[in-house]
Amino acid sequence: MVRLALDAGHGLNTPGKRCLKSLDKNETREWVLNSRIANYVQESLGDYEGIEVLRLDDTTGRVDVPLKTRTDKANSFNADILISIHHNAGINGGNGGGVVVYRYPSSLSKTKDYQKKLYDKVIKHNKLKGNRVSPLATGNFHITRESKMPALILENGFMDSKTDVPIILRDDHARKTASGIVEFLVEEFKLKKRPAKDDKLKDNQVYRVICGSFKSRKNAEIRQQELRKAGFDSFVVIHDISKE
Ligand SMILES: [Zn+2]
Repeated sequence: MVRLALDAGHGLNTPGKRCLKSLDKNETREWVLNSRIANYVQESLGDYEGIEVLRLDDTTGRVDVPLKTRTDKANSFNADILISIHHNAGINGGNGGGVVVYRYPSSLSKTKDYQKKLYDKVIKHNKLKGNRVSPLATGNFHITRESKMPALILENGFMDSKTDVPIILRDDHARKTASGIVEFLVEEFKLKKRPAKDDKLKDNQVYRVICGSFKSRKNAEIRQQELRKAGFDSFVVIHDISKE
């Protein structure tokens, strides 16, 4: 069993940790961005067997779990790897930025290897390469220092960069980042997909995908247009629900 300690940095109300107001009027909190990615990672790892995930942050965001509690949890869980998701700052409204992955300066060579592989996979999926001279960085951070297992901090773009903010706010960016993290874990730990559960279908039965039921024709047609835009053929029928 592979054990992943997965961490969304900070908490919802951690002072200062948010997008720059001039670039994002909502001042989206860093934990919101961090946990969105962590949730997608957990969700897609649900399709794999042989991996157990422990979240180190408070998944409601209410508490900014102290760093020592986080590393204590990861250590007693005997995690094989710790991934802490963050978003960066330090550009002050300028351009540039991109993904940076940190490890502890004197980390094991295995950690260094994971660092590069994780970075490469995240960039492959979310393309947020940016302009950092050293996207594979070292830092003396509590999370990377006090954990017994290889530990990495993924800084997934800058919350005060004109270039990065519009990208990191997007849901599809979070999904792509999560895909990169998951692909790294699947390859590194040779994870296998769970066998799909197929029901025993009779000859006259099929799986039919239903994409919504509406009382107004107009709303049904709006859904149909959305599906067509996404490349799925669809049609609207009147269906008698009393026969269900
Ligand atoms: Zn952070």
